[in-house]
Amino acid sequence: MWVTPLIERKRDRGALTPAEWRELIVEYTAGRVPDYQMAALVMAVFLNGLQPAELAALTGAMLDSGERLRLDHLGIPVVDKHSTGGVGDKVSLVLAPLVASCGVGVPMISGRGLGHTGGTLDKLEAIPGFRTNLTAAEVQRQMERLGCAMMGQTADIAPADKKLYALRDATATVESIPLISASIMSKKLAEGIGGLVLDVKRGAGAFLPALDDGLELARTMIGIGEHHGCRTVALLTAMDRPLGRACGNALEIEEAIAALKGEGPPDLMEVTLALAAEMLLVAGVETNRDAACARVQDRLGSGEAAERFRSMVATQGGNPAVVDDPAVLPQAEEVAVHTASRGGYVAAVDPRTIGRAIIAMGGGRRTMEDRIDPSVGFVITAKPGDRVRAGEALASIYAGDPEGIQIGGAALERAIAISEEPGPAPLPLISHRVTNTGVDALGG
Ligand code: URA
Repeated sequence: MWVTPLIERKRDRGALTPAEWRELIVEYTAGRVPDYQMAALVMAVFLNGLQPAELAALTGAMLDSGERLRLDHLGIPVVDKHSTGGVGDKVSLVLAPLVASCGVGVPMISGRGLGHTGGTLDKLEAIPGFRTNLTAAEVQRQMERLGCAMMGQTADIAPADKKLYALRDATATVESIPLISASIMSKKLAEGIGGLVLDVKRGAGAFLPALDDGLELARTMIGIGEHHGCRTVALLTAMDRPLGRACGNALEIEEAIAALKGEGPPDLMEVTLALAAEMLLVAGVETNRDAACARVQDRLGSGEAAERFRSMVATQGGNPAVVDDPAVLPQAEEVAVHTASRGGYVAAVDPRTIGRAIIAMGGGRRTMEDRIDPSVGFVITAKPGDRVRAGEALASIYAGDPEGIQIGGAALERAIAISEEPGPAPLPLISHRVTNTGVDALGG
């Protein structure tokens, strides 16, 4: 395939035909288009965007580059949720077993930590023995038995995305609305789902912090989902501060298990409940939000959600005792309490600073080869708007050594801003609901 004229056309703000996109993706996935030409083309897309027909063709070609899970025989609706990523965002860990316990299948393909954000696979692998590299056959069997599975992208699922994503990561072309949308939706549609709920983050810790970008990303992904017959809805949620209190792999597992028992921090419970209710609505097992919320609350209160998580952990090779005893998780060598250096109001808790500190302390990767220490991180009890006294505890630091405690302490000093007067109001936790018919502002 002669790629240079296509790069020229995209560079000059033209469009490729759907047939050209399909051939390009087939040839690139097969290794017959070199990375340097694809990198130039992807940069042209990053700068000039994609027309709707191009986006549809690119996503379709990426989806068709691999296998799709076949789950029609389960006899229950199958849906999923995707978050655009944040700090302290452990909602997926709660949602998959919770929604499965409500009678809806959830085959969740997740990713690893990316940039300053944490990844669901890294969190799950903090549970001793937990396997995320499931084969398609294992996923089928587990879905039949439990209705949920949590795993990484296999070589068979959207391999074009796997290759393109690594290329984008290395060529500063990740933050593009059409490229993010095609990447996420090709993987999610390969799960064979009939509905998808998107948690689009906004605020300082989001990949796309601005509200308008979040709304455009939501609309773009919804357009792709609906085009493929997948009912798709998005909630825009706050990532101007970490979600919940725990930030760091093992610490987040502990907090997610508390949430599965209905005992998570209020912000985590609110976002989880809202997303779970949307999943039951797109699945069609409930037709009104109050009933959907009631069913979700019932499964949390009865212990069924936590039991489903226990079964999933056991089936995927992990130690199920983690549900009752967090001491099963890797424990940090050093723990220290971080206190307020002065009294006042918490004006900000910056998620990027927290996320980067976890990487610096060994809890995330700087290179693909890095091994991570799952025990490190923070439990941050201070929230924007809180009034604090000098010397009051704001957070705990969990580290592998005294140097890690110092790195963590310095990061908290920068991340937690304390001012004499109350700071600007934090973003509303759940601000917008987006569907293919429009946007509802929910608050703020
Ligand atoms: N997550 C993905 O899977 N793809 C992107 O492009 C960005 C985030």
